[in-house]
Amino acid sequence: MHEMVVAQSLLVTISDEAAKHKAKPIGAKISCGRLNPVNDEALCFAFEAIAKGTPCEGVKLKVEHKPIQARCKNCGQGFDIELSCPRCSKCGSENFELLPDVPLMLEEIELQTD
Ligand SMILES: [Zn+2]
Repeated sequence: MHEMVVAQSLLVTISDEAAKHKAKPIGAKISCGRLNPVNDEALCFAFEAIAKGTPCEGVKLKVEHKPIQARCKNCGQGFDIELSCPRCSKCGSENFELLPDVPLMLEEIELQTD
C-alpha cells in the first residue's frame, strides 16, 4: 500500500500549510516521474478515505506525470524520452543515459481565501 503512505504524508503537509495560512485547502498539485510507481486513482482514493473528517476533506488531488529525462552521450543534449522512439532530440543518437526519475513532489496547494 504505497499509495496509502504517500496519501498520509500529503495529508500532513497540506494540513500544516493550510493551518499556517488559516485557510481551507481545496486542491493540491503533485508531480512525479513516470517511473514512480504511484497509481493516480489509488492515491486519490486513499487520500479521500483518510481525509474524511479532517480539514482536508474534499481536497482534489491533481497528479502530473513528468516525462523521463535522458542525456545524449554523443552530443550532450538533455531531452525528454519518447517511449515510442527513444533517441536524442538533437542528433538522433541512441547512445544516451537515463537521468534519475523525478521524485513524487507536492508542487502546489490551492487554498480557499476570502
Ligand atoms: Zn545527441
